[in-house]
Amino acid sequence: MQIGFNKPYLCGSETEYIRQAVYSQKISGDGEFTHRCHQFFEKRYRFRKVLLTTSCTDALEMAAILLNLQAGDEVIMPSYTFVSTANAFVLRGATIVFADSSADNPNIDADSLEALITPRTKAIVPVHYAGVACDMEKIRQVADKHGIFVIEDAAQAIDSFHNGKPLGSLGHMATFSFHETKNIMAGEGGMLVINDPQFISRAEIIREKGTNRSAFFRGEVDKYSWVDMGSSFLPSDIVAAFLFAQLENIDDIQSRRKAIWQQYYEGLKPLAEKGYFQLPRIPAYATNNAHMFYLVCHSLEERTQLIGFLKKQGIQAIFHYLSLHNSPFYENKHDGRKLHWTDHYTDCLVRLPLFYELADTQIAYIIEQFQAYCATVDRAVAVAN
Ligand SMILES: *Cc1c(COP(=O)(O)O)cnc(C)c1O
Repeated sequence: MQIGFNKPYLCGSETEYIRQAVYSQKISGDGEFTHRCHQFFEKRYRFRKVLLTTSCTDALEMAAILLNLQAGDEVIMPSYTFVSTANAFVLRGATIVFADSSADNPNIDADSLEALITPRTKAIVPVHYAGVACDMEKIRQVADKHGIFVIEDAAQAIDSFHNGKPLGSLGHMATFSFHETKNIMAGEGGMLVINDPQFISRAEIIREKGTNRSAFFRGEVDKYSWVDMGSSFLPSDIVAAFLFAQLENIDDIQSRRKAIWQQYYEGLKPLAEKGYFQLPRIPAYATNNAHMFYLVCHSLEERTQLIGFLKKQGIQAIFHYLSLHNSPFYENKHDGRKLHWTDHYTDCLVRLPLFYELADTQIAYIIEQFQAYCATVDRAVAVAN
């Protein structure tokens, strides 16, 4: 049996909606399907204002521009994240202050933030890893106390919640990804959510090449001009057409992904209890949107062994981020603090296949292979889980 890590799922209506977008004679950005996607998010999650972008990377870059960062301003974020989280702020000349992950899961350690704040700190960027909420109450408390903005990197966090509130609604702004590897996808795509109204009108301008074109099309100004800096961050309506097809099926997609996640969890629990590895931990304030199923091994050696074993059985399991504070680009810019948990997840975390069409028989096969693997590991490591 060969089981790949990801297989993009098509709901079926994508090509029909793309056809409609193509023949609508309005194929560029902000057409009918973009409008429908915006409405979907503003209705379902009560986001104040949403703007589709060509990627989450672009949405992060928009957020960084909107914060008006000056060279030397500091932005705090986890080191265990995707490069775009940091790059967006580096492009504006900001200094990235990397925080450690928490012991419980790869999310930023909210208790470490206070000590990292200086008079130059402008923003905190929590990343909801695997779609599981960061400790937003603590993060907002620290940020509000010091007058610092919070930008949620919610790339993986669609349809997930913190104490009942949707992720993406808890920061001043938030960014989502619709990359092929995410729960809801459009090949490449993203979205900026703006919860703090002071950023709304400027966000529209920045997204439209620094012009007030959006206001012009609403009839609010009689000509459109170059009024600010900006770029082209809006996707074609063809991308939005694809995305809308997926959004219409979000409940079905989410329920299948959660069922797969639960099967893994139940199947692997007995092995985790014997101490072979650690299962994901979901804090009481968080939901699980089944973006990812990961395990944490005890060491790099054990993880390498496990990945190699699964590969021989036809199963593609893969590790994830490499700590950004140790990256070739940033290691000599980092202030030298050791980030223990970040390095731990860099070395020990492994992700299993999780996609809509993963069959129950395939999940059962993967769990069987884990049982076989653990039987080959002679030292039954009863490490406290
Ligand atoms: C996927 C991802 C991104 C980048 O998303 P794109 O849409 O590919 O630009 C950023 N941050 C995190 C945490 C991600 O998982």
